[in-house]
Amino acid sequence: MNIVRDPSEGSLLLADLIGASHRVVFFTGAGVSTESGIPDFRSPNGLWSKMKPIYYDEFVASEEARLEDWRRRFRFNREVAAAEPNRAHRAIAKLVAGGKVVAVITQNIDGLHQRSGVPSEHLVEIHGNATRAACLECEAHHDLAEVESEIARTGRAPMCRACGGLVKSAVVSFGQAMPVRAMMRAEYAIERADLFVAVGSSLQVQPAASLPMAAKYSGANLVIVNRDPTPLDAIADHVLRGSIGEVFSAI
Ligand code: NAD
Repeated sequence: MNIVRDPSEGSLLLADLIGASHRVVFFTGAGVSTESGIPDFRSPNGLWSKMKPIYYDEFVASEEARLEDWRRRFRFNREVAAAEPNRAHRAIAKLVAGGKVVAVITQNIDGLHQRSGVPSEHLVEIHGNATRAACLECEAHHDLAEVESEIARTGRAPMCRACGGLVKSAVVSFGQAMPVRAMMRAEYAIERADLFVAVGSSLQVQPAASLPMAAKYSGANLVIVNRDPTPLDAIADHVLRGSIGEVFSAI
């Protein structure tokens, strides 16, 4: 394992590694969006220092938990609407346009990779997307603006108009099953990758954090770009510490 602590040195190394590769997979976490002003979970000022997560079982069991989940969702979406993709999002989008990137697998739900120009056929959102909502029973789509005005009008968590099931934002909560199609797309991309770059993830949330390990064992070079140490640093070929924006400055 090679640890690079100087972000400019890390930036040049990352550019070289990408230059020498043919099928790159990016795997991004909340840290890629903090320089756009969206807090992550596990940094010192991250969201978990201010609130506890709402587990899927609590969402299903309690209307109070559902209403709190919706309040958080609308607050998060307002933050995201005011944010812009940063230089790391833009650099990744440019590399996708250049044809070297097989997939951008993201744990993020903020839609900033789409807004930076990554097309949907290259984007794999393994934790869903906060800008959509669906019924947990029949999967009917629900418009978020309508959900918000219904909650304001009735004070109740919305039920599906088609089947009466619970409506939930299309984000994977803790304890909720992973989306099968997205995980299959992620695994297919990883099998083909010769370089796997994990960016801005504490690599602590499973099963997402098992993807870098799968890439390493299927033969890809593994690079981790993150400010703090992660549990997978020991198996990485290169660990680039420092600000993600700075590490992506040469890309
Ligand atoms: P995490 O909060 O566990 O870890 C983020 C990591 O990024 C930390 O280790 C931190 O050191 C690093 N980091 C933060 N800003 C950085 C910067 N500017 N430069 C370098 N490193 C930086 O996030 P995670 O691993 O993605 O897992 C948390 C879960 O939270 C994911 O499932 C994700 O869906 C969700 N989440 C998403 C968003 C979003 O969509 N923007 C925001 C918060 C949480």
